[in-house]
Amino acid sequence: MAEYLEQYILPLIKDVERPKKWKHQPSARGRVHAHCGLVNLGCICYMISMLQQFFLVPQFRYQLLKAEDDTPENLAEYKGDLIDDNLLRQLRRLFGYLELSERQAYDPKPFCFAFKEFDGSPTKIGEQKDSQEFLNIFFDRLETQLKPTSQRHLLRDVFAGNQCTQLICQSCGKVKNRIELFYNLSLQVKGSTGIYDSLSKMAKGQTIEDYNCDFCKERVNVIRRSLLADMPNTLIVHLQRIVFSFDTLQNDKVNARFEFPSLLNLKDYSFKERMTKEQLGAEDDGEDLSSLMNVDDDDYIYRLVGVNVHVGTADHGHYYSLIDIQRGAAELDPNAADEEGKTKFKEWSDVSKDSWKVFDDSVVRAFFFDKDLKAEAFGEASGEAEGGERKSDAMTDAELASFLTSGAQTYGKSAYMLVYERKSKKNLHEISFEADKEVDTK
Ligand SMILES: [Zn+2]
Repeated sequence: MAEYLEQYILPLIKDVERPKKWKHQPSARGRVHAHCGLVNLGCICYMISMLQQFFLVPQFRYQLLKAEDDTPENLAEYKGDLIDDNLLRQLRRLFGYLELSERQAYDPKPFCFAFKEFDGSPTKIGEQKDSQEFLNIFFDRLETQLKPTSQRHLLRDVFAGNQCTQLICQSCGKVKNRIELFYNLSLQVKGSTGIYDSLSKMAKGQTIEDYNCDFCKERVNVIRRSLLADMPNTLIVHLQRIVFSFDTLQNDKVNARFEFPSLLNLKDYSFKERMTKEQLGAEDDGEDLSSLMNVDDDDYIYRLVGVNVHVGTADHGHYYSLIDIQRGAAELDPNAADEEGKTKFKEWSDVSKDSWKVFDDSVVRAFFFDKDLKAEAFGEASGEAEGGERKSDAMTDAELASFLTSGAQTYGKSAYMLVYERKSKKNLHEISFEADKEVDTK
């Protein structure tokens, strides 16, 4: 490990300024709980709260620190500093600081400079954005940056899964399959009580009438549904809490209660399970989906390790992260059996026994999972009027006014993104340029 740190991480942060102990002030104290925060330079909590989630995925962090970009330094002046305008190098530098800095928080200005808006300008730090939107753009850019490096497959290996969308003809019974890659599984919150309810609705599907079947060429009813095909090592779930409303013609925050378990089993919503139970032909459209029938049952089992919380309304709010920090080397192996064949699966799956932290901008503090998770993350039917449910999940004008003036930021607090780690992890592939081939790595 020491050798690893020296080789990959020290060069990244050679210019770290050590806190001057004799000038120590409480406001400029060092890192707490052995974790470093990120300074919110304006409204970038959507970004820094997700960067902490990515950093704490061990497979991602350590492989990323090995991804070297050989292009020459591209120095540019930005707000009085000379910054290397290279997203990959700035991300590695940020991770290097989070790994080793003795400061309380790292200033992500160089990262914000290298992470460009669509018009090519540096991140507009005063603009509030959506953390799922950030994830999508960030992964897309990073994928391009990783292409020439040994870590070309990293994002796919760690975060990518596939869904299978099916059209099932109600007349001839044949199935049309379409496989779709995802980097986060997006689930409907409105009208669902939790993850399992939402997935079960997705797997049940909807009837589309008067559809022209590819197989029997008749105008028929088809069922359109979506199943989980193969699943990633680290599953990121997006909860659709910010939705466009046709009543108000703007985005609304849905803060209804939506539950998610610490131990998640997705088998019931999988392609393999449904196709086995229903005896439908998988390869009716000529695509070979046989590999999806060989997925191991363990590959559907996950434990919760991270929650990205959003507080506020669709337009005014704040993001922070709750993260299990007992990961990687500190994590129990759920698959290793002792002499009597007993595994640590039960202990591994009980994440409430792990150490959790709140990563809220510069501040990192303890999080009491058992006591606080439901209140922090499940949301609530906050606007339930007496004698019945209210029609809209949107905030009323009075609530908005009270939210904006209170400063307490407790309205609309609920999980927006979830991070789950799989029980059995696939190997990663890295490119060995010396051997000119791909090699497997854990
Ligand atoms: Zn048909």
